[in-house]
Amino acid sequence: MTASPCLYIVPTPIGNLSDITLRAIEVLKAVDCIAAEDTRHSGILLQHLDVKAPMIALHDHNEQQRASVLIEKIQQGQSIALISDAGTPLISDPGYHLVKLCRDAGVKVVPLPGPCAAITALSAAGLPTDRFVFEGFLPAKEKGKEDRLQALAEESRTMVFYESPRRVIDTLTTMLQVLGDRQIVTARELTKTFETIHSLPLSEMLVWLQEDENRTRGEFVLMVAGKTDTQEELPAEATRTLLLLQKELPLKKAAALTAEIYGLKKNALYAWGLEQQKSER
Ligand code: SAM
Repeated sequence: MTASPCLYIVPTPIGNLSDITLRAIEVLKAVDCIAAEDTRHSGILLQHLDVKAPMIALHDHNEQQRASVLIEKIQQGQSIALISDAGTPLISDPGYHLVKLCRDAGVKVVPLPGPCAAITALSAAGLPTDRFVFEGFLPAKEKGKEDRLQALAEESRTMVFYESPRRVIDTLTTMLQVLGDRQIVTARELTKTFETIHSLPLSEMLVWLQEDENRTRGEFVLMVAGKTDTQEELPAEATRTLLLLQKELPLKKAAALTAEIYGLKKNALYAWGLEQQKSER
């Protein structure tokens, strides 16, 4: 193929190197230049594909300034492909400013379909996919994370998040406290050897993940069920009993006893108890 003077958006594999389309390879081989987030990292893929085009670094810290250089190149007749370290550029990755400037300047942007961790995870999660919301990475600081989740508490669509292995336990703990004991699906190491897709209520997922440290290794997509009308409020009598029992017993035991007395779900009571403990701190 001959590449036309434009910006091609080219998704690359999220783990398995075979997950690249024939068209993506054709475009990478045909363009004059490849803008890459990390040229050393992408160099390995390009070498594997026998792509020889020169690379130019485009990352979060230089994107605004590099964008105008790249647009000039296209306006002079060159073709440029934008790739990121993995998956689809612009999806929790650099590229937004470049694409916005291209479109504002009337420079053609040609998107190629391809790998994206969020969509790959969602397609196998077993949560509703007719409506979903992509939230990317939650803020790293606890207060920011809580505020963001609080703003999502009434969201009825399936929520999709990216998370690093270092923060996954903290994030799930905050989710349990703020959203209650919703169903969560974790998709870890997609397309790689240790790919694991697991579905549990948040409280049980926290226990399951902490049972084996291998379960928190690697990259994660987290998908949380949206709020449904059937998520009942806990009766005031039950929460009063839980508060009393909690003074004498560990929360897990207190929640289990309260659940038995009132015929309620112990996970919901446990989540409520955790929230109380946190607000008392
Ligand atoms: N642009 C990428 C995409 O299209 O999915 C996402 C880039 S973002 C910087 C990296 C995050 O994506 C990781 O922290 C993780 O949350 C998610 N991710 C990427 N590859 C993954 C994989 N193989 N399995 C699970 N999650 C993955």
